[in-house]
Amino acid sequence: MWLPIDPQSDFSIQNLPYGIFSIGSGTKRVGVALGDQIIDLYALSEMDTFSDLGIDSSVFQSDFLNDYIALGKSVHTALRKRLTAIFEDESSPFREVSERFLHPQTAALMHMPIKIGDYTDFYSSEQHAFNVGTMFRDPQNALLPNWKHLPVGYHGRSSSIFVSGTDFKRPLGQTRPKDDEPPVFGPTRSLDFELEVATIIGENTSNGQRVSVAEAEDYVFGFVLFNDWSARDVQKWEYVPLGPFLAKNFFSAISTWVVTTEALAPFRVPAPEQDPAVLPYLKGGKHQNFDVALEVELETSSGQKMLICQSNFKYLYWTVAQQIAHHTINGCNLNVGDLMASGTISGPEPGSYGSMLELTWGGKNPLTLPDGSQRRFFEDGDTVRIRGFAQKDGLRVGFGQVSSTVLPADPF
Ligand code: MN
Repeated sequence: MWLPIDPQSDFSIQNLPYGIFSIGSGTKRVGVALGDQIIDLYALSEMDTFSDLGIDSSVFQSDFLNDYIALGKSVHTALRKRLTAIFEDESSPFREVSERFLHPQTAALMHMPIKIGDYTDFYSSEQHAFNVGTMFRDPQNALLPNWKHLPVGYHGRSSSIFVSGTDFKRPLGQTRPKDDEPPVFGPTRSLDFELEVATIIGENTSNGQRVSVAEAEDYVFGFVLFNDWSARDVQKWEYVPLGPFLAKNFFSAISTWVVTTEALAPFRVPAPEQDPAVLPYLKGGKHQNFDVALEVELETSSGQKMLICQSNFKYLYWTVAQQIAHHTINGCNLNVGDLMASGTISGPEPGSYGSMLELTWGGKNPLTLPDGSQRRFFEDGDTVRIRGFAQKDGLRVGFGQVSSTVLPADPF
């Protein structure tokens, strides 16, 4: 490796995640993060680096990754091999001219990496579903009868998904603070995060086509961190009987870099055993998750910082492969750039719960910051950062972060 990379960098040579960047007033381009640099794939391509792989430069001068993703897994694999070869060859001719295709990340502006088509949000963490069911119903019947038989999900809205670094106004909405009084209108008083990882679909299917669990990963391009910002008071009042609506679609955020399935391959771990047994169409493949540490940091407007959650992508009861198999079992077709979020990922320990709703147990146990201030839910000026990384045997593959700040609500 002729490019020096900090061993603690999320963006090792084994990672090579994709994003969309621009420099100054330049056009948007496809880039790959490596250490603290961005590999400018358009510039590299213009140096005739990928023509033998059948990749045209134009795919790298693009507002989104979608056209590149649509070239298919064999192209992605070939490009990954080519990049690895270039950087691992100490006498590579590219080394002498690296300033032509490497940019410091600090000099770049990052953009929304994917033109997201359809967005689905699952509910695949058992501990999360159990916690919410315990709070809203009772611990004896925390999981609804369907939960262990199918990956519950709903269709969300892609127009309000933004890239990390985008801020948003506290949403207004209708709530009913007291059960025996009429509803009221105003800014949400229980603004929450949801710690999630989202799958980016990498291959179209046709309507009527079913994708099996065993082949599901062939349809995955990669993963991003996902913060599904939620207004719990709005949600509580509006969700019956059709489920989440305005409590969820005001703003969500994804991380800037898309980490590929290939990069995460060394971090596969067995998924939790499923009891009762699932129906045959939800079986097959290797029943694996990815061991990716997830953490959430709160920073207040006065600069107080607190790590509020440490969880892991491996805690999913329903794997990504099962989510895809279930999503397509009725013939529903997938498109390149569709996004499927995992649902809030909560682990077994209270410190691993992936939402304020669970961390403060419905606001009963507020979090106390170093300066003594407390949070039940988030206040204006609060910034929430989700980070994710897989690490073992000196190998590190990270996601960077997804960060957003809550701005005050509009006057109403
Ligand atoms: Mn969610």
